[in-house]
Amino acid sequence: MNAPDKTATAANMVTIVPESEIGGLMDAASAFDAVEATFAAMARGDAYNFPVIREAIGHADALYGFKSGFDKAALALGLKSGGYWPGNEARGLTNHQSTVILFDADTGRVKALVGGNLLTALRTAAASAVSIAHLSRKDSKVLGMVGAGHQSAFQMRAACAQRDFDKVVGWNYHPEMLSRLEDTAKELGLPFEAVEREDLCAQADVIITITSSHDAQLMADWVKPGTHVACMGTDTKGKQEVDPALLARASVFTDEVAQSVTLGEAQHAVAQGLIKEADITPIGAVIEGTAKGRTSDDQVTLFDGTGVGLQDLAVAAKVVDLALKAGKAQQVPF
Ligand code: NAD
Repeated sequence: MNAPDKTATAANMVTIVPESEIGGLMDAASAFDAVEATFAAMARGDAYNFPVIREAIGHADALYGFKSGFDKAALALGLKSGGYWPGNEARGLTNHQSTVILFDADTGRVKALVGGNLLTALRTAAASAVSIAHLSRKDSKVLGMVGAGHQSAFQMRAACAQRDFDKVVGWNYHPEMLSRLEDTAKELGLPFEAVEREDLCAQADVIITITSSHDAQLMADWVKPGTHVACMGTDTKGKQEVDPALLARASVFTDEVAQSVTLGEAQHAVAQGLIKEADITPIGAVIEGTAKGRTSDDQVTLFDGTGVGLQDLAVAAKVVDLALKAGKAQQVPF
């Protein structure tokens, strides 16, 4: 005879951390640690991402999907679900909407419900910051920003915690948005200069691209030797931020090779036969010390940050801990 199922009667408390609490709990440094540990766990084979689902739902012009995974080392199991609702701005809401659900890895019972909007910005910025920490030259002085949308400010703040930059140069397809970069640089106590793209490449030691572009914005021969480029905008098939020839010239690293070659920046270079999947190194292997990162001051390094579900789980688990410690978590029986 089967044992009785106690699911309906055994107490299960679900922790809720609403979007409005995340800003007061989570910071860039905590996100950096969580994402770095996740990339390392992925490289050790302790953590893996499940296939991403992303669909146009045929309502409200929305793109909906979910990213999911399991980190055996951290016992983080769950998913981030949400997407892009272009009509939200007119309603006073953010177009990108997401929520993270964490499950108990031992029982499958739901553990936590966490607002995912700010966490997405923090974990994406943390990924490029991890790449800068492990791949850029230590004497990098000028940060180049391509893109001035919502994510760009988070990217700049996280990057500036990794290197002693003394200047930010920026370019954006929509120049009227450049004030965001200027304001963020000011907040960080750094001078900002709006420049043309070739000049940006000539000045910058580290370049972050964070746009929704579908064409190459930077050409391979503009980038000077020794530069680290973090391509963070391309997270979907068809998007593109840099000349595929730049990936052939650079040493290429990524969060997740399978995503890099299909929906990341490397999709174009691979499709054109300029690089192969085997040429791309998971950044986790560099963190773990099982693969080489930068080997010379002249080398161009490029990080293809595609965004993985495990990053979301890592920062959500961290914020649940912080919320419980700070007494900011709501706990409801479920
Ligand atoms: P946003 O809508 O606030 O800003 C979009 C940016 O792209 C702006 O700088 C805009 O001027 C620029 N842009 C728009 N059309 C362009 C074009 N045709 N050519 C060049 N630039 C163009 O978006 P955001 O929230 O800042 O996100 C930026 C990008 O990052 C998006 O593509 C988003 O999907 C991607 N993203 C990636 C990850 C990841 O993990 N890799 C995570 C979140 C967002």
